Amino acid sequence: MPRIYLDHASSMPVDNRVLEFAKPYLSSSHGNPSSLHSVGLEAKRAMEDARTKIADLIHAENESTIIFTGSATEANNLAVRGIGLRNIAQGKEVVVSAIEHMSVLNPMKELQKNGFSFTTVPVDSTGIVDLKKLETTLTKNTVLTSVMYANNEIGTIEPIRQISTIVHEKGMYLHVDAVAAAGRIPIDVQKDGIDLLTLSSNDLYGPQGAGALYVKPGVKLQSVLLGGGQERGLRSGTENVFAIAGMGEAARIAQQEMQQESSRLIPIRDKLIKEILKIDQSYLTGHPTQRLPHHASFRFSYIEGESILLNMDMYDIQVSTGSACSSKTLEPSHVLLAIGLKHEQAHGSMVLTLGRSTTMDDVQPVSKATYETVQRLRKLSPMSQEWRK
Ligand code: PMP
Repeated sequence: MPRIYLDHASSMPVDNRVLEFAKPYLSSSHGNPSSLHSVGLEAKRAMEDARTKIADLIHAENESTIIFTGSATEANNLAVRGIGLRNIAQGKEVVVSAIEHMSVLNPMKELQKNGFSFTTVPVDSTGIVDLKKLETTLTKNTVLTSVMYANNEIGTIEPIRQISTIVHEKGMYLHVDAVAAAGRIPIDVQKDGIDLLTLSSNDLYGPQGAGALYVKPGVKLQSVLLGGGQERGLRSGTENVFAIAGMGEAARIAQQEMQQESSRLIPIRDKLIKEILKIDQSYLTGHPTQRLPHHASFRFSYIEGESILLNMDMYDIQVSTGSACSSKTLEPSHVLLAIGLKHEQAHGSMVLTLGRSTTMDDVQPVSKATYETVQRLRKLSPMSQEWRK
């Protein structure tokens, strides 16, 4: 059976069109964008072209709102620490949803060392942020609120426009981590009322080694990386022109193909969900309808996600148990705990993220492999044997 790769949230292949486009920046057009000679100018032009394409993907005011970083983690750190530290005089409160990525949660927690208070707003059982709680949590001292556009582990899409209205009634800035959503669903930072937004190249079929932070005109933040003053002084260091040029082209392709690709993937996603939920004591995690077009996430009682992943790999089907970034700890996912699952329930998760290589023909072998995996693991599971008694 050919390989079926369903872990696009952890990593994606670089699109061949992107690779072809960006290749010269590794060889013939190898200039440093800060150099004034013609080779340097060529690299600078590639960066400006990428900036424009990325600004277009999110409907930003202009290309100078885009700051390139080395990764989405770095963009999230720049947003959180940069806003917090720059606006200390305005207030020392930061607010975050309970299901943010660690690259938002950890710098938020770190701000406590600078005297900030840090509040987590809960989500409901489908992963939607509790808007009433958000409203009562915000004060005039809240300098930054961070809520992701869509969650990478459960696929839930947040009501960002409503969140933005609430945030701007009381607090100052809204930061949105759009790593999981960008290129999958339309994003309009102006209509959505977003002040800062994080993007990742490798979640758009671009090369690893580039991320970007959208910073709305007029929003001031402090640099967290000091040096030669690249990227408007906000992110010093020689730019990764290959990855940045590739990210731009990946953004252009994603924008052009998004609608068609979503319409293609939604029926595949829905069929997978329908087939897998036929398994006894299997449940969808995340929102049933407000979810990313390529995302199907489940939990199965009495078994463990790591064993599911390894068993599925024996069928040459690659899945995930949640966030690849926190898979090194044996702790259950904070996202699954936040939607109200007990520890033992949160351990039995399986996340399928579809991509450009996924077809309807994959549904049958994936559902069959899941069914057999779950049956096999349940036979071995002491928890399951208790339940059968
Ligand atoms: N935010 C979200 C929602 C993510 O899923 C990830 C991981 N892909 C990141 C941020 C961080 O991305 P990276 O590890 O590429 O810096």
